[in-house]
Amino acid sequence: MKIISGDKVIYRFSPDMKAIESILPGDTIVVETNDCFFQQIVSEEQILEEVDYDRLNPATGPIYVEGAEPGDLLQVKILSIDIGEKGVAAVVPEEGVLGDQVVKPIIKIMDIEDGQVVFNGIRFSISPMIGVIGVAPRKEDGEWATDSPWRHGGNMDTKDIKAGSTLYFPVNQAGALLALGDCHAIMGDGEICFTGLEIPAQVMLKIDLIKNRSIKWPLVETDEYTMVIASGDDLEEAVYEATNQAVNHIKSGLEMEWEDAYILASLTVDLKISQVVDPKMTVRAAIPKYIIPTEKLIGSL
Ligand code: CA
Ligand code: ZN
Repeated sequence: MKIISGDKVIYRFSPDMKAIESILPGDTIVVETNDCFFQQIVSEEQILEEVDYDRLNPATGPIYVEGAEPGDLLQVKILSIDIGEKGVAAVVPEEGVLGDQVVKPIIKIMDIEDGQVVFNGIRFSISPMIGVIGVAPRKEDGEWATDSPWRHGGNMDTKDIKAGSTLYFPVNQAGALLALGDCHAIMGDGEICFTGLEIPAQVMLKIDLIKNRSIKWPLVETDEYTMVIASGDDLEEAVYEATNQAVNHIKSGLEMEWEDAYILASLTVDLKISQVVDPKMTVRAAIPKYIIPTEKLIGSL
């Protein structure tokens, strides 16, 4: 099995980025990911200003998938996320939902033991997830720093991007050019204070291609849902985009009138906040599989 080393990273998803590895559809690979600080934070006494901000949010890759052409879908099954032993969380003035109330930067380092973390005497289970994962954008969308989410994926900070889930990305450039990083041992919806429990990881993925199907925004499939992950300048814009795509997917997947799909969405689809702290905000519209299985939804694209 190919192991993609964590020292080969990008800081921008660009249409013409150069691949560092090449794989075949059907391959299972292990990708070493760095935490969003590139492991620069090792102590709670460290001064955040001393962190090299040019090395934030590294994404390992890009990985070229043979045969992937614009107009295809890249399917990424997350088989496992093996995280490190320590995670980092931080508050930074002016960052996060309540950044106006933060008077000084603080770093917290937490040990992970037996799938649990202890913070201020409170023990709880972790739920590892991938913060940044995406492909090369379309030419007309231009370059995207790895700290931002958009139609190519990127910093979606969506807690359902976890082991057992499957992602679907639009292929915009030959080879798709997959890259990922920024795993979290755990994060709540919203990523309120601006970090999850940031941690390096080894991510095992199974990569496949679905030819001649296209989507506007990435999808993540969980046990119960197919979720549209959409981003916008504010929550309202992200909610509109995610809802619009979800209704379109229901309409074409179930061959319904648009109005009927709109009603069915209102009765069954859950809108969930992914994150509100990145340069764009991200929400997901969760379409239950009991109204349409993911395979059927994708078959109708
Ligand atoms: Ca992130
Ligand atoms: Zn992160």
